Amino acid sequence: MHPGKRYGLDYTPLFRFLLSRVGGHWDRIFSEAVSRLDRPDPLFWMVAIREDERKDIVRLGESSYFSGLYVDEKNHLQIVNPDLKAENMTPGCQCCTHTFNGVPFGQPAN
Ligand SMILES: [Zn+2]
Repeated sequence: MHPGKRYGLDYTPLFRFLLSRVGGHWDRIFSEAVSRLDRPDPLFWMVAIREDERKDIVRLGESSYFSGLYVDEKNHLQIVNPDLKAENMTPGCQCCTHTFNGVPFGQPAN
């Protein structure tokens, strides 16, 4: 990550940043993240503010999957389904490298 560089079209660094801040105060995470974005919209692809918007899995592009996040009643960032792991995931095809929270899955063991 270059200092001061915006995320641009690849939101993987943003999503990884959000994951690394799970458990923290949403207000602080939001202001830190939004300072690197042109618009706050991509934050809400991953983070559900309303309860009926919560999703277990958020997809970014064709083959990058991330845990859905939400903001709890104490204003902390939380994972919707913390039990989901890369090894539980099924890839949509065999030809691409799929990742869940940056961890590859669906590939042969070596
Ligand atoms: Zn493919």
